[in-house]
Amino acid sequence: MGYHTVDYTFKDPDHREEQIFPKLSAEQIDSIRPFGDEIELPDGATLFNRGDRNIDFYVVIQGGIEILITDCHHEKHVVVTHRTGNFTGELNLFNNRRALVSGRTPVPSRVLRIRWKNFRRMLNVEDELAKVILRAFVLRRAAFIRQSLAGVMLIGPAQDPDTLRIRQFLIGSGFPYRSVQPDDRAEDGRTVMEALSLSSSDLPVVWESEGLVLKNPSIADLASELGLLEGLSVDRTYDVAVVGAGPAGLAAAVCAAAEGLDTVVFETQAPGGQAGTSSRIENYLGFPNGISGHDLAARAQIQAEKFGAFFSIARPVTLIKRGKDQEFEITLTDKTVVRARVVIVASGAKYRRLDLPGYERFEGRGIHYAATAMEAQLCKGEEVVVVGGGNSAGQAAVYLSQSATKVHMLVRGKALSETMSKYLIERIQASPRIQVYYETEVSSISGLKTIERVVWKDSKVGQSLEKPVRSLFVMIGAIPNTEWLSGCTALDGKGFVLTGKTKAGNPYETTQPGVFAVGDVRSDSVKRVASAVGEGSVVIQWVHQCLADLKAAQIDALPEKSLKAS
Ligand SMILES: Cc1cc2nc3c(=O)[nH]c(=O)nc-3n(C[C@H](O)[C@H](O)[C@H](O)COP(=O)(O)OP(=O)(O)OC[C@H]3O[C@@H](n4cnc5c(N)ncnc54)[C@H](O)[C@@H]3O)c2cc1C
Repeated sequence: MGYHTVDYTFKDPDHREEQIFPKLSAEQIDSIRPFGDEIELPDGATLFNRGDRNIDFYVVIQGGIEILITDCHHEKHVVVTHRTGNFTGELNLFNNRRALVSGRTPVPSRVLRIRWKNFRRMLNVEDELAKVILRAFVLRRAAFIRQSLAGVMLIGPAQDPDTLRIRQFLIGSGFPYRSVQPDDRAEDGRTVMEALSLSSSDLPVVWESEGLVLKNPSIADLASELGLLEGLSVDRTYDVAVVGAGPAGLAAAVCAAAEGLDTVVFETQAPGGQAGTSSRIENYLGFPNGISGHDLAARAQIQAEKFGAFFSIARPVTLIKRGKDQEFEITLTDKTVVRARVVIVASGAKYRRLDLPGYERFEGRGIHYAATAMEAQLCKGEEVVVVGGGNSAGQAAVYLSQSATKVHMLVRGKALSETMSKYLIERIQASPRIQVYYETEVSSISGLKTIERVVWKDSKVGQSLEKPVRSLFVMIGAIPNTEWLSGCTALDGKGFVLTGKTKAGNPYETTQPGVFAVGDVRSDSVKRVASAVGEGSVVIQWVHQCLADLKAAQIDALPEKSLKAS
């Protein structure tokens, strides 16, 4: 039954096999031998299974280790066989999340096993080797994502808003997935639908070969079932809790963890923030060809995890308040309470919406707030409308013009020069596929289930134009994500967090001692990736000061007797 549409072998279009599967030399193996133990294994020994957490790191000394994945027919496939000098592992060794693959010996073998508890210590000590291992892990995950291997199957109509919602989360959290249409006879999705007696009303369905079947799951349920919520500690007090994993929060996490602080990051969705919705950021230092917001965020997350930061995703923070011993109690949407000594607010901003009748009905059904490869694919070969005159609208128009037949760009102002960077204005002017309409606003959107028609009005001449368009990109600025702070700290008239008002002269401290704010959420901040990253990085120096003050205050509060005893 069914059809195999996937090639279950590791491939790299850039021929980087030597980096994906490096062979450690005898000297390199000798250098890490003290961190582990050498063991003999019989033929067919299982080293780890898909779904296992905290798995160990293995280097083949003699024999081999096969890496297996399971397909939708429950058949196992060998994706690669590690030989002498090769090592096992993938990004989940850094964050202790569930393994995506299984490992077993095809022949009697001798391997060096480094227990997961020693793995991070080994990386810290063996700096040069750490680079080789980290690069291999990143490339292995990238190959899984590119080839849709070792993840889940997402069965659902491509344009369906719930399918899109789930896809966005899987992309954002770097989880491999294969998207299949339920009605396509040549796809495995149909096989799964029939085998599990699923009907179209169950869609979208997330399915995993080990038995997981989720019908139109919420993001929190999906994250939980995939094991992405595991590992958050409620028993200890973290040094720093970062709320928000956009550029500012990610930078704070990297710097805090790199400087030895016990760091936890909370994120409503998946890391990336507003920057994660940008197809190409061109004004960020060090990337002359630009970098997609998703790639930037994914790299930053790995960097932070490498230093030991923990990411709690798919659960927003709903409340912070001071508990005992001056600690903060941070409540998540599922009522989990986590403690931290210092809080960094990096919750950024969310998209502004158009004030139009029936607007909400089309959110996720033709209205987009991001222009990434996913959206570009959805409107390939079609005409689209982009609303806005700022840099994000300009970027979206330029990017979408590569795949859409026509981009209608609606700008409320009389010119772009005041709101957009010069390089974007030049590209827009040079593109025959982008038409800019000044002093023009959307007056209505209509359609049965999804957007089918958009009408816009030129206020200069009072004339309306109607077009059969299925995608409307709304890029008209943002409002701060501060509702969850509910009185914990002072906000400005527009709801952004006020900072730098305390006597200490600290530019990022809010009116609540021990709570800092960085990035777009901060009142008067520059709304850019570079400034968000800069603020997230430098705030850590003030966090150290704050932690030192807290410690000093605790020592002062101790009775003299206990001081002598210590
Ligand atoms: C489409 C687009 C293109 C852009 N292009 C550029 C560009 O080319 N160059 C440039 O310099 N800037 C660009 N910007 C602006 C830039 O992305 C922002 O300035 C930057 O992302 C701000 O970073 P941040 O970390 O402060 O906030 P954000 O990026 O807004 O991130 C905040 C994060 O906090 C999370 N969060 C919010 N509330 C909670 C909560 N209660 N609990 C947990 N998590 C929470 C959010 O989910 C989000 O992930 C662009 C913006 C957009 C929208």
